[in-house]
Amino acid sequence: MFERLTSRLQEVFRNLRGFGTLSEKNIQDALREVRMALLEADVHYATAKDFIERVKQKSLGAEVLASVTPGQQIIKAIHDELVELLGSTRRDFDLTALPAGILLLGLHGSGKTTTAGKLARQWKQQGKKALLAACDIRRPAAIEQLETLGRAAGVDVLKPKPGETVPDLGRRALRHARQNFYDIILYDSGGRFQIDEELVSELKTLRAATEPRNVVLVLDAAIGQESVNVAKTFHEALGLTGLILTKLDGDARGGAALSVVSVTGCPILRVGIGERPEDLETFHPDRMAQRILGMGDIVSLVEKVQATVDLEQAETMQAKLRHADALDLNDFLNQLRQLKKMGPLHKLMDLIPGAATLPGKHLNQIEQQSDQQLKMTEAIILSMTPRERRHPDILNASRRRRIAKGSGVQVSDVNNLIRNFRQARNMMKKVKKMQKRLPLGGLFG
Ligand code: GDP
Repeated sequence: MFERLTSRLQEVFRNLRGFGTLSEKNIQDALREVRMALLEADVHYATAKDFIERVKQKSLGAEVLASVTPGQQIIKAIHDELVELLGSTRRDFDLTALPAGILLLGLHGSGKTTTAGKLARQWKQQGKKALLAACDIRRPAAIEQLETLGRAAGVDVLKPKPGETVPDLGRRALRHARQNFYDIILYDSGGRFQIDEELVSELKTLRAATEPRNVVLVLDAAIGQESVNVAKTFHEALGLTGLILTKLDGDARGGAALSVVSVTGCPILRVGIGERPEDLETFHPDRMAQRILGMGDIVSLVEKVQATVDLEQAETMQAKLRHADALDLNDFLNQLRQLKKMGPLHKLMDLIPGAATLPGKHLNQIEQQSDQQLKMTEAIILSMTPRERRHPDILNASRRRRIAKGSGVQVSDVNNLIRNFRQARNMMKKVKKMQKRLPLGGLFG
């Protein structure tokens, strides 16, 4: 989502690195470019201005360190300010009360109900007993949607009774949660296309009836600058404790994420990165800053891999990513299988340093491998001798013919597979090379 911002910033950094020493003018020019890049990414004007001012103070006043170049020092200052802008440290819901109350609010279509389902699913997986209360009483479809999500996640859903008011429903849900020892109660409130007095007063009565410690706004990042106004208005009216940004997978320019924390003073607790129940991520300001700067996010990548495959395989994959030369056809097959399990490849590639700027062609080629193709790939590779799998370069014409026969495919299929494999290997080499070329490669590992 930050692709454009990332590539603009990298351009600025490339220029900066060209200078052995930096004059005040070099710094001013670079920061002007950074400011333009932020504004283009839809960052709020005042936020961008403050940001640049702070980086400038740090850069101009900083002592020049022997081990890094002045350019790297500025990039570091930008990184640190970005982390600050995104909320400094990771924050989470307050789950200390039992049951812990969470009031989710937001405009219609922001992703409230979907997010309620995703959160309940996460907590259920952590062994917590969660209750979903469907408080959007005017929209039967929303109640039904929540019920479906709850059922899929194995989480109980409490529905309104005919004629019941929102605060009555809230009180009943809380009583039910207390009596039945739930750990968490999530109130999915009603939304509107715009914030109006009626909505605010309904939310206030629900909040008064249930007294949740968490009042969390679900915010659609795709609405750009407008999201800042929405967050501000909700915060002023209801006193938010946290934010969840949704649709960060879309082509939003990312400015919302960079502005809402400073505008509201509330932390971002989670980010929605897709429509599937598992597409909800914990928000780490430092990792996000590194992602924006194009430093990638090896930590998130490893975590994601660990969640899907066992640790040993994950370590092997990490090592292979670092040493593309050692990649052989066994790994190729393993990786294809694992990547399938992990979801869309392009999302994963976002996490790899430098990969965001790779042409999408190679990614798509691998991504488009249907299950059937995967089976064919598997058959072809399994028809090879162990030595051929380890040393694909020995696959001459007669070996390829034998393999095609053995796996019941055409020689052209074997050729295609080898070509794809080589492309994947080259792509990884390229990622590796870009990682080396990136500024601060040494600082961020
Ligand atoms: P509500 O009106 O606030 O309850 O919004 P919904 O939960 O019904 O979501 C509105 C639409 O946004 C649905 O089509 C969701 O699938 C979609 N949506 C929610 N979160 C995300 C997200 O993080 N990414 C994407 N791409 N779509 C999302």
